Parts: sequence; structure tokens; C-alpha cells
Amino acid sequence: MESGQKMQYNGGIIDAHCDTVHLFAEMKDVYNFAQKNTIAQLDLPRMEAAGIKVQFFALYIEPEYKYGNALKRCMQLLDLFYQTIETCEERIEAVFNYDDLLRVNNEGKIAAILTVEGGEVLEGDLGVLRMLYRLGIRGLGLTWNQRNEIADGVGERETGGGLTRFGKKVVKEMNRMGMIIDLSHISPKGFWDVLKTTVCPVVVSHANAKKICDHYRNLTDDQLKALRENGGVVGLTFYPDFIHDKNPDLNILLDHFEHISEVAGIDHLGIGSDFDGMGGKMLKGLTDVSCLPALIAGLFARGFKEKDLQKILYGNFLRVIRKICNDDSVEV
Ligand SMILES: [Zn+2]
Repeated sequence: MESGQKMQYNGGIIDAHCDTVHLFAEMKDVYNFAQKNTIAQLDLPRMEAAGIKVQFFALYIEPEYKYGNALKRCMQLLDLFYQTIETCEERIEAVFNYDDLLRVNNEGKIAAILTVEGGEVLEGDLGVLRMLYRLGIRGLGLTWNQRNEIADGVGERETGGGLTRFGKKVVKEMNRMGMIIDLSHISPKGFWDVLKTTVCPVVVSHANAKKICDHYRNLTDDQLKALRENGGVVGLTFYPDFIHDKNPDLNILLDHFEHISEVAGIDHLGIGSDFDGMGGKMLKGLTDVSCLPALIAGLFARGFKEKDLQKILYGNFLRVIRKICNDDSVEV
């Protein structure tokens, strides 16, 4: 570092994954998203203070709603999401394409992108996918850990199962409409099948490097290199189990950032916090969104430059959004 050089990041931040919508449902009597609180890892005032410009909100379908009630659960969460952000519409707005995102940010508001985590909601029907698009969903995690009609989740990895014939149709329809394909939680075979099928970049919204932490949810170096080829982005996650099996901390998370930037390249990583999706676990030093300055300071200390942080924290995911969500006139 040259003396006097400022280690300050003034750009925006895109977080590609949180499960906070859950709390809109489960904690609705005590959790107020628009007010600072200690119940959640995210709320509007802390997001604003941390410099979040774009937040992906996943509608996570818990295992108890599979099978049979996954789609209904998704609709309930979607309704709660819209009801909640209506109460603070002057500060946050759902966006459906790249131009929308820029407009909302220019108005000084946070842009929210809606995604679904778990393709069970489609119940094997492309028509449901198209209706989700019409309702504002712009990303879909093809699987959670289980098998569904689209593919095997990573929890079924020993079967060697990948993308189904229906899953291939889903990938193609998502490419056509302009929906972001999220490969977090998919089986290794499914990951490779999707990359052979898609004509658009994909994201892995929340995962880390298997080389640093040998967890089945993390990505191998070969997968990271494939993401580079595809033009996609992996969002590094703060979920402790995916950072280290015994002593996860911010320092080891920084090892993941270094490794992934070397293997996948600086243009192919971002952040996907998984805030409010950690089942009560928290990373030491990065317990909630207000701790992001500690991550930024850590990245600078590891030698990342401001232009690198601009890509990691913002530009890389923005590139994918711009590439995929660019045309709302597409016939659904
Ligand atoms: Zn997840």
C-alpha cells in the first residue's frame, strides 16, 4: 500500500442472496423490516447504512412444504414480500429489469430482485414458471438439496443424477424469458448438465470454495473455472459451515475470496450473504449486514484494489443482471 492511499470503498453493493422474506412470515408480529432491530440479520436501515444498492430476496420453500404445498407457500411468501415493501416504498422497490434497477438506484432507493429457491414450486409445469415471471420473479434456484422435477439437489449427489428432460426445458425457457438461473444446491451432475444446456450466464448465488472448505455445497476448482467460461458469477456466502468445518471466521472467508478470484477470475465472484438463512448460526466478525465494512477492510488488507472491490461487490452481478434481465417486452 502506498502511504496515504485511502482504503475506502465508495461504490454500491449487490447481495445476491438472503432468506429474510421468511421472517416476514414467521416473525410478522415482532419483526419490522423498515425499522432497525436485532431479530434479523437484515433490515432496511442497516442495509441503507451498509451501502446495499441491490438485494436479491429469495423465496425459500422449506422442506415441510414439499411436496404438495410448495407453490402455495411460494405465493404466500411473495404476497408477504410485496405487502412488506409497500410499507416502505419510498426506500425500496422491486425491479424487473436492468433499466428499472438503475432508475430505482438513481432515485436513492434499494432495488429488490425476487427469486425462488427451489424448483419444486413449478410442480413440473412450464406454465407455472411463466406465471412466476409475470408475478415479478427474476431468478430461480433450480433445486434445493432434494431431488425435484428439474434435477437432483446436492443432497442426492450419490445417485449421480443431473438435469431431467423437464429441467432442460426449464433452462431453455428461463434463457428465453430472461430469468437468472441459480445453481446453488444443485448436484454436481446437474451443474454440468445446465452449463451444457444454457446459452446465458448462470449464477451460484451462495457458495464458497471446496478447496478451502470441503463441504458438499461448495464449488470445486473445475466448477469455478467453468463459471469463468460461462461468464457467470458465484456469490461468496457468510454461512459458517461453508467457510470452515471447525473454526469459521472472517479471515478464512477472505481465503475463499482470494482462492476464488484466482481460480475463477476477478470478474466471476460477488457476495451472496445468506443472511437470515443460517438457521441461527452466524459468522464471527460478520454477524449481520452492518458488519460489511469489516469484510471490505479485510479485502483491502489482502491486497484487493478498489477496482477489484467494485467488481466483487457490485459490477460482476450487475453484468449478469444487465445481460439477462434486459427486455421486459419478451412474450411470456
Ligand atoms: Zn440456500
